Amino acid sequence: MTAELVEKGLENASHTKTVDVGRGVLASSGTIIRDELLEGGRKALLVADERTWKAAGADVERSLREAGADLAEPMVYPGSPTLYASYEHCEEIRERLRETDALAVAVGSGTLNDLSKLASGELDRPYAVVATAASMDGYTGFGAPMTKDGVKITMPCPAPRVVVFDLDVAAAAPRPMASSGYGDLSAKIPAGADWMLADAVGVDPIHPLAWELVQTGVRGALSRPAELAAGVPEAYEGLCEGLVLSGLAMQVAQGTRPASGAEHYFSHLWELDHLGSELDPPLSHGFKVAIGTLAMVGFYEKFLERDVAGLDIDAVVSRWPSWDEVEDDIRRVMSGPLIDKGINETREKYVDAAGIRARIEKLVQAWPQLRAKLAGQLMPAKELQLALASAGAPSVPSDIGLTPEDVRAAFPRAMYYRSRYTVLDVARELGWFEEIVDDVFAPGGLWQ
Ligand SMILES: [Zn+2]
Repeated sequence: MTAELVEKGLENASHTKTVDVGRGVLASSGTIIRDELLEGGRKALLVADERTWKAAGADVERSLREAGADLAEPMVYPGSPTLYASYEHCEEIRERLRETDALAVAVGSGTLNDLSKLASGELDRPYAVVATAASMDGYTGFGAPMTKDGVKITMPCPAPRVVVFDLDVAAAAPRPMASSGYGDLSAKIPAGADWMLADAVGVDPIHPLAWELVQTGVRGALSRPAELAAGVPEAYEGLCEGLVLSGLAMQVAQGTRPASGAEHYFSHLWELDHLGSELDPPLSHGFKVAIGTLAMVGFYEKFLERDVAGLDIDAVVSRWPSWDEVEDDIRRVMSGPLIDKGINETREKYVDAAGIRARIEKLVQAWPQLRAKLAGQLMPAKELQLALASAGAPSVPSDIGLTPEDVRAAFPRAMYYRSRYTVLDVARELGWFEEIVDDVFAPGGLWQ
């Protein structure tokens, strides 16, 4: 089933041509990379750090040698402190690739993949990645988050041509890595619900193939949290495939909508606040996303308790704020450069009273079926909380150094952070936003 899905994704993906996920696939990585990447006898440049070299790099090098591939001297960064995705490192890799006329084979997870991806993209060369941990869904994605001139931005660059993902390697990686991947994959639950809502009101139609790729296996992949935490290789199959499919879906849809909704904005905002950046390794993307996901699933739970079908549409429209009022609110909840960003992003999804009426009419009309679909997509927040804890992922704000009040304060900021239409916007349009946030943080709720 999943293998067919991966095939379907590859047929429609913009850049990735080969994905090999399975136990022991490292041993054949050399042949795969030789055949699918190193056309015309091109040289391979392995890019790793001391830890990933030990975990997989040496095996990949041996396998490539056995396959008769030509190899440049590998680049192996120190294992400690943790390597950063800084543009200077990317330039180093790019220059080495240029000097050696080689194609990059990243051996690692987030950072090493991102550095190799961007370096290769800047030279307009394909590359391969041998994944060493089930830590996030960026292996098959395009673009690379990078720190350049002290600012973190996502720089455009194509996804890898070849991905090799050995489940035994992933299962042997430091445990928090799979816990992070679990957090990133759990995000597909509220993200899917956000897409359903945006589709229903005509803002962002669902791309059927991208949806199928991301959503088909998510529940199954999230169903073995304790075995993931225990490092059982079989339990990694769903997680690794889910993360790979998520990236393929982004390639297919040419955007990040299939894999992320409002829950990711919590993570991005905390990242901009440098949350956990002093740690080594720094607080992971998936850990921040886990708490954002839980917050959003909690929000949905309260949203679905409300009577959308019985709304007084005239009353809702008459309360709809003018753009000036929205802008004032953005200035109140955002700070620094996020004020301008919030204004620009929110303006894209803002509509006037007539536009709101049209959206709400669509929502009310669709509600009976839509509510049932949303309920099927989502899960009880307490159940997700237990699953996250069982997977070793954060399940309460203090796990990532935050208070419930910090999470609460992130809700309006997440709503204004991006132009992407989510349930936060729907709740704001219906006049329920503050009330639902209050419900999420009421005594006896999720965080107590
Ligand atoms: Zn993510």
